[in-house]
Amino acid sequence: MSEEPWQAMRFAAEEAIAYRQRTGTAERAPVATPEDMFAAFDQPLPEAGADPGAVIADLIERASPGIRAMTHPRFFGWVIGGSHPVGVAADWLVSAWGQNNGNVFGTPAASAAEAVVARWLVELLGLPADAAVGLTTGATVANFVGLAAARSELMRRAGWDVEGDGMFGAPPITVLIGADAHATVFSGLRYLGLGTRRVVTVETDALGRMLPAAFERALAGVSGPVLAILQAGQLNTGAFDPFAEIVPLARERGAWTHVDGAFGLWAQATPAYRPLSAGVELADSWAVDGHKWLQTPYDCGFAIVRDGDSLQRAMAISTSYLPPPEGQQRDPSAFVPELSRRARGFGAWAMIRHLGREGIAEMIERNCRQAARLAQLLDGQDGIRSLFEPQLNQALLRFGDDDQATLDTVDAVQRDARIFVGPASWHGEWVMRVSVCSYATKDSDIAIAAEAIAEAWQTVRKSRA
Ligand SMILES: *Cc1c(COP(=O)(O)O)cnc(C)c1O
Repeated sequence: MSEEPWQAMRFAAEEAIAYRQRTGTAERAPVATPEDMFAAFDQPLPEAGADPGAVIADLIERASPGIRAMTHPRFFGWVIGGSHPVGVAADWLVSAWGQNNGNVFGTPAASAAEAVVARWLVELLGLPADAAVGLTTGATVANFVGLAAARSELMRRAGWDVEGDGMFGAPPITVLIGADAHATVFSGLRYLGLGTRRVVTVETDALGRMLPAAFERALAGVSGPVLAILQAGQLNTGAFDPFAEIVPLARERGAWTHVDGAFGLWAQATPAYRPLSAGVELADSWAVDGHKWLQTPYDCGFAIVRDGDSLQRAMAISTSYLPPPEGQQRDPSAFVPELSRRARGFGAWAMIRHLGREGIAEMIERNCRQAARLAQLLDGQDGIRSLFEPQLNQALLRFGDDDQATLDTVDAVQRDARIFVGPASWHGEWVMRVSVCSYATKDSDIAIAAEAIAEAWQTVRKSRA
């Protein structure tokens, strides 16, 4: 082999480092439109190959204008982690080592890293020490995996082998879900044959938290197996369902409780915010992301299930290979839908090892404090309204008194490009959603964000006057 592939790797690594150094300090720049990017990549199928270094250089040139600075300290859009450089470094090795992380004999190191990440994670999050953990692409698949374990166990208890016989003629499961649940939970229900329209919706309060009395009423009205889907960290408000009240009611009824905690479950890792998620450890399964608050690179999520047997029943792939021996050794594929996949345990291992319990708690508490500070700086300024005191790391802002004023302000902020925020629809109103979810965000970034938002609103106000 010529030297060139190694040069391409070195070149990519240097460019990647330079990109992150620039993005960490520089002002943000506006990003190219999708139209521009589709045009930039549009070319006929190459007939002849190209040299490794030239391929990487070409990729960087085409892609750069359309790379959104999601790792920037002032990126507050959606709920997106900062893809920490230490996690990225580990992830480079994941790709370079090229491990097919399907079974423990094939990839002993990757399997061992996953096993210890699983143990560290449940300890960090205060969940049962013997819960089983699958490493997924994110919370969408983690929700699916948790719900699959739920379906398996509820069916088993009803005398039905859903893995063998499927859903045809199976006893119906009633799904209780809060009115402000995340859209991805419905995908999980759809994949599992539980349907998105057959759910019983439980009324929520102004922050999107299930009302315990409404939950109790809904529970009383159903017969047969019940699956209750709760939430730690509502996408818009960051609020938590009242687990300590709801989960015991569900348990008494023999229901399975699954918690979508994509970012909010991380409250469990901090002494200051843990009271918000009180009782969450009583549930049966949980979904949480690595690529949000743990700051791992994409992609990484965790499906955590109290009863490991139900998880393995739902997920394990029966291959013609030897099963792992009893004890500590785990086949990574026994806990997730995939057989061949990347060894994402290494990135998660590196992030937990780098930050430690204290670093993780410090970051989460800092981000929450920053969201509260931003809302406080802006609330009441010339018709800016913070819809509520941030519960966690999410702030919702309204500008003036109609939707258009808020949407125009979001637009003006995006064009200004000092920070990035997006719009969201919350209980019938458009809002600006600010999500603080990065290791890189400093208090000075919050001051800049407050200025950029206030100035954008002034521009919008003037143009409307
Ligand atoms: C982000 C999020 C999801 C989906 O997670 P992905 O990592 O994007 O798959 C699910 N639920 C909630 C509450 C979220 O915030």
